[in-house]
Amino acid sequence: MKKIAALLLLLSIITAASFAGSKQKAAKPVGDEQKMNQFISSLMAKMTLEEKIGQTVLFSSWWDVTGPISNNNFVKDAEEGKVGAVFNALSVDFLYRMQKAVVEKSRLHIPLLFGYDVIHGYRTTFPIPLAQSASWDMGMIERSAAVAATEAASDGLHWTYAPMVDIARDPRWGRVAEGAGEDQYLGSKVAVAQVRGFQGSNLKDVSTILACAKHYAGYGASQAGRDYSTVDMSERYMRDYYLPPFKAAKEAGVASFMTAFNEYDGTPCSSNEFLLNQILRKEWGFKGFVVTDYTSIAEMVKHGNVKDEKEAGEAAMNAGVDMDMQSGIFMKYLKQSLKEGKVSEKRIDEACRRVLEMKYQLGLFDDPYRYCDTIRAKQTLLKPEHFVAAREMAKRSIVLLKNEGALLPIRSDVRSIALIGPMAADKKNQLGTWHTAGRAETVTPILDALKARAKGVAVSYAKGCDFEGTDKSGFAEALEVASKADVVLVAMGEREDMSGEANSRANIDLPSIQKELLAELHKLGKPVVLLLHNGRPLTISWENEHIPAILECWHLGSQAGPAIVDVLFGDYNPSGKLTMTFPRSVGQIPIHYNMKNSGRPYNPSDNFTSHYKDMPNDPLYPFGYGLSYSTFKYSAISLSKSAIGLNDTLKVKVSITNTSKFDGEEVVQLYIRDLVGSVTRPIKELKGFKKVAIPAGKTVEVEFSLTAPDLAFWRKDMTYGVEAGDFKIFVGTSSSAVQEANFRLSETASVKW
Ligand code: BGC
Repeated sequence: MKKIAALLLLLSIITAASFAGSKQKAAKPVGDEQKMNQFISSLMAKMTLEEKIGQTVLFSSWWDVTGPISNNNFVKDAEEGKVGAVFNALSVDFLYRMQKAVVEKSRLHIPLLFGYDVIHGYRTTFPIPLAQSASWDMGMIERSAAVAATEAASDGLHWTYAPMVDIARDPRWGRVAEGAGEDQYLGSKVAVAQVRGFQGSNLKDVSTILACAKHYAGYGASQAGRDYSTVDMSERYMRDYYLPPFKAAKEAGVASFMTAFNEYDGTPCSSNEFLLNQILRKEWGFKGFVVTDYTSIAEMVKHGNVKDEKEAGEAAMNAGVDMDMQSGIFMKYLKQSLKEGKVSEKRIDEACRRVLEMKYQLGLFDDPYRYCDTIRAKQTLLKPEHFVAAREMAKRSIVLLKNEGALLPIRSDVRSIALIGPMAADKKNQLGTWHTAGRAETVTPILDALKARAKGVAVSYAKGCDFEGTDKSGFAEALEVASKADVVLVAMGEREDMSGEANSRANIDLPSIQKELLAELHKLGKPVVLLLHNGRPLTISWENEHIPAILECWHLGSQAGPAIVDVLFGDYNPSGKLTMTFPRSVGQIPIHYNMKNSGRPYNPSDNFTSHYKDMPNDPLYPFGYGLSYSTFKYSAISLSKSAIGLNDTLKVKVSITNTSKFDGEEVVQLYIRDLVGSVTRPIKELKGFKKVAIPAGKTVEVEFSLTAPDLAFWRKDMTYGVEAGDFKIFVGTSSSAVQEANFRLSETASVKW
């Protein structure tokens, strides 16, 4: 109610106007970079200091709040040139009206930039990013981002706060749902696909939006997996593992970067000169703009590296931040800071220019309303072809974790299916975390899709229990329904708000009420298929031991039901592979495939080696793991050479035979191990993958090319390069099921980072 009242108030202060024939008032620039620079220089020559600072100020509207609200007067302020960008405001009419008020009433008629968290779809919701990454299908990931961008842009938006490219190795951290998992090589490929999808090849295209690589940097390493907690890691670790996806996003042309909430090396990221000035600007040459995450400038006071908000603003501006999201500190204090010589006019000008450049590149100075076309919005939002893409993405994201006795796909002699569990008929929770503009009514739940597909098969349903709580009153009905069916499907897991921001969990089991129901269903002795829904790896050792078939279904979005049913009936043969390790227990965390060996790697015959007394070291399901209805047989690896020099290419070949009667797809993975380095190297590092279709009974040859720069790392002297020596190469179906071969790199050299 509060939101609606606020909205009405806002609408009443903004002049209502017809869209047709609106005259934009700003001058009309066209052309190349030089023209852009001239245009911006002449605009900035007219701007007052307050107006320049205004371009560095971003506030949230009340529409769709993602944190504390700090300025209810942002429209009035924007009309006075004190605010340059607004986020969390939606819909083509609303944004049009706001833009019009600001362009017409402000002195220099500079359009606003509208941002929003378009994370995995806009109105058509795609699977959560972690699920998408499990497809290892870069084309589909790019397409998903492109659909999201087209919808968002048609609804008036210019800029998304995505992709989140944080490496995540701790499943307790709720935000693992938003990223591409634990590996920097795969994470970099996904980052590129997403940036391309959102931005397309021309920012002026009104079906694209600016992307934002976030959260720079190291946010995924929050201690104890607790969101917003401290991060502590070496520069080497940061550069080797956490920065590569950001670098890849930069190289793909990402328009903006968002700082992280955490500190790095004792300095919060929003004032971290090393990350922002040294690495991002000097080493990588990033030309876009840097926005802070939410109130992170103000939060520096609590971090304790500055004494007050004014000092926090100075630290952020001096470190290279160009836009202050939501803390209002640039607006409040920068003028004074400049007077006191604490920040320079040059720095403020630079920040202002970077923001104006993006507005220019979007074409907003040509026409501030070019993203506000009601007809385009109607024709674009929730288009049937977007649902087709969402279903494709969703079925490719599903991972078959276990399939004992080939229980799946459901056999044609099955006459009755019971569908049990809190996710079975649920729509809202299938949307997943950060679905933002997504709506439950767009979701086809499993139950509806199952009934539609299972022609001639009786489908019965009972919820059984809720996601959490202690109410077992639905157990009896669920058991009754299940006892009469040939196959029991159990759709369980996490609610959408159990992962995502501020949703860390210390216990990542299935919630106990669901686990209890599952155990009761198991006791019936019927074939049970567990349809897992979750925004993170869960600890499901009991389930893995007792339930014959487990399908990892994540939160799959609008087309969750049809995609799951496609896989259940074998209309689509599952091809997803995990991009985050599933631990046996939280006690194993952190656990990821690319760990180091240590001086005492586990040796079962030697107690004084690295191990647990109560559990194996290895995970329940490793990185890269996922089954298919097909079975694949790998040949030995063949290498084109046994040694390579700096300019050589090593060809790595393997043949894979589909030994089953199902056509299938396999994600063939290539890893290396650098056996001796000037610093220790991980036991495996992903360096290539190919997703290939292999028809039943056929053999396909897969070839990878490796060159010396692919083997580079941050060496002992903190230069980036390769070192001569022996390497192992592994090719296989997951990080733990691989064939091995050896090769040698003959030269040591620096490599450009
Ligand atoms: C999150 C960001 C998000 C921002 C704006 C913050 O709390 O950390 O990922 O983009 O809010 O909604």
